Amino acid sequence: MDEPLLRISGVHAGYGDVPVLWGIDLEVARGEIACLVGSNGAGKTTLMRTISGLLAATRGSVRFDGRELAGAPPEQTLASGIAQVPEGRRLFSAMSIRDNLLMGAYLRTDTGVAADLERMYALFPILGERRHQHAGTLSGGEQQMCAIARGLMSAPRMLLIDELSLGLAPAIVDQLCDTLRELNRAGLTLLVVEQDVAIALELAQRAFVMDTGRITRAGDAGTLANDPAIREAYLGAL
Ligand code: ATP
Repeated sequence: MDEPLLRISGVHAGYGDVPVLWGIDLEVARGEIACLVGSNGAGKTTLMRTISGLLAATRGSVRFDGRELAGAPPEQTLASGIAQVPEGRRLFSAMSIRDNLLMGAYLRTDTGVAADLERMYALFPILGERRHQHAGTLSGGEQQMCAIARGLMSAPRMLLIDELSLGLAPAIVDQLCDTLRELNRAGLTLLVVEQDVAIALELAQRAFVMDTGRITRAGDAGTLANDPAIREAYLGAL
């Protein structure tokens, strides 16, 4: 394939002296939705934080659009076009929804911020209706919408979402997945960590399975969804 938008090779990372990632290789093509699944503690969040620069890789390469980002601070990663929606959403709960969204655009110097704010209100009308309310008053699903919209306000080419569906009702998750597909059709590349493997494999075109700090399976999401070992381990099938 063409040079992937994101290419991670041989990445090791951890916390202090404790290694968590053991030589991760992962590629996401331009315009693709990829998902990362695996058991609790496999290292999915650690990998997302290593991509976004919140955690430094101790070895290996994180290339985005042909540029090396390993060792770059998070502002540089964001400025390069990668935004992260963190696990637990991490909104500024005492700030208005509008101000949370504007925080996502804090590095931008172009004139498109006001128009993008309106675009977010069109994408998630509930955020527009409640733009002056504190983010802490939103339901879980609305908070996830706000966190996604905040990430989009940096005008990224790639959005990382850590735990899309956690704690959300199925109808809300369906709605979020539809919105992500719409954003993807408009050109956004996505890498989604998702604990519900069925949701992940339906949303994504490409999937990576992680276990104890390593990628153990990678491939076309539809193929993995039909793989007996994956079905037995993750999809509750015999
Ligand atoms: P989960 O689905 O439970 O969030 P995960 O796949 O995202 O799991 P990580 O959160 O990346 O996994 O955790 C991987 C390992 O790193 C775990 O053993 C965890 O205890 C450890 N870990 C995570 N964060 C820290 C930290 N801040 N300091 C030390 N160890 C950590």
